[in-house]
Amino acid sequence: MLPTSGSSYRWRLGDIEITRVLEFEAALFEPAVIHPDVTPEILERHRSWLEPTLLNPDSGLMVFAFHSAVIRSPRATILVDTCSGNDKERPHKQRYHRKNWPYLANLAAAGFAPDDIDYVLCTHLHADHVGWNTRLLDGRWVPTFPNARYLFARQEWEYWERAELRARYTTDPYYEDSLLPVMESGRAQLVASDYAFDDSVWIEPWPGHTPGHVCVVARSPQGSVILSGDIMHTALQCAEPQLNSCFCINPEIARTTRRRFLEIFADSPVMVIPSHFPTPTAGWIRSHGRLFRFHFDRHR
Ligand SMILES: [Zn+2]
Repeated sequence: MLPTSGSSYRWRLGDIEITRVLEFEAALFEPAVIHPDVTPEILERHRSWLEPTLLNPDSGLMVFAFHSAVIRSPRATILVDTCSGNDKERPHKQRYHRKNWPYLANLAAAGFAPDDIDYVLCTHLHADHVGWNTRLLDGRWVPTFPNARYLFARQEWEYWERAELRARYTTDPYYEDSLLPVMESGRAQLVASDYAFDDSVWIEPWPGHTPGHVCVVARSPQGSVILSGDIMHTALQCAEPQLNSCFCINPEIARTTRRRFLEIFADSPVMVIPSHFPTPTAGWIRSHGRLFRFHFDRHR
């Protein structure tokens, strides 16, 4: 995998280029809030390597990034996960409420206009992965990426379109402002959880965090990357795979999936780009005794 000049957050795999576009990054969650099963002992065991990048020593909060990844292949430009969005009413999730992030400016700085995006793909349909699906224009929510087809895993869509299931996660109107307008625009397409764009970019089902959660794989002869969504929210979950996040819908499946993911990718050359790991975000799973560590790509 060759670094490209200029951006610190762009990785090149032969003729495929992957760019991280940040919405925001902040020390945000109490460890015991994001990981309800974490104990003071677990935290102390790992504090030395968590601080300062992953755990802010002053606030004691875990650092989270919210970002998209743009996969540019010779055939298509694919935007994966669309963060939390601007102007959204999120009274129950203040970190996403009525925001004004410079996300589109960051996208432009990375070389992409909204018109350039051919496909939008969400690893799952939580509010922080679908926000920029739409933007507010003249009082209406319209697709942010006017030329894109928005691909949703059918299993994931069919779960979240049920209001009673959505209500267990949040009563904020994110389905109404970020998903339904895309479906009504005719730009959405429901796909199988193993949909392939071609033999170099495809999705794979990795359920548990949500029922239809998928990862996105990009592969070339020069290397492979997996965009792992929310299989792990923090690198602490490599060292303690039994720890779920407070947002995992199917706790047992989430644990099994995480463990399988770590075992498959441990000590492999496949670069992993999780949805919320702070800068530098990307890295590799490495064995550490019987468990694992995340080795960040610090060579940018
Ligand atoms: Zn998320």
